[in-house]
Amino acid sequence: MSIVLKLDVTGQPRGWLTINEAVLAYARSDVLYGIGDPLPPIFGGIQRISGARSRIDLQPIIALEGRVFGEFVPRLCNRTLFRRDDHRCIYCGKKFAKSNLTRDHVQPISRGGKDRWENVVAACKRCNFHKGSQTPEEANMPLLAIPFIPNSFEWHFLSEERILGDQMEYLSTQFKAERDWAI
Ligand SMILES: [Zn+2]
Repeated sequence: MSIVLKLDVTGQPRGWLTINEAVLAYARSDVLYGIGDPLPPIFGGIQRISGARSRIDLQPIIALEGRVFGEFVPRLCNRTLFRRDDHRCIYCGKKFAKSNLTRDHVQPISRGGKDRWENVVAACKRCNFHKGSQTPEEANMPLLAIPFIPNSFEWHFLSEERILGDQMEYLSTQFKAERDWAI
């Protein structure tokens, strides 16, 4: 099942919608414009008066009317964090399955580190255990890439695995992070 990328009036990505939510937005006339090749049409009921069947041609990206509520704050969860770090351990550089990765706090929480994008990295269990409550310097475990806060385009890309071509094209125009892994 496809999902629809929601934009605010300024064109900033603001979430993923289910097909049902997108249909509702059309029904409420909240859609300012759509981008991308139409998805398979959605048919509604037969209209009593005209006898016509209602039909909505959804597009994969829709901009919705409405107020813009402040700056986009990318939600932090392990799934998106591990995707940001390419499922690699930031310390040994090897790739791991999700189940073998952990969220490591570069500056440990016990030492005042925050649970924020710029202080968290994917780490394999072995490296995380070895590092313990030390800083990378103390543990002599340099970071192979720099943690970054994804912008709204990057975050929407990271948060969803079934992205359509048009959505990818739209999101990738604003990818800012360029990462060089020191491996
Ligand atoms: Zn590792």
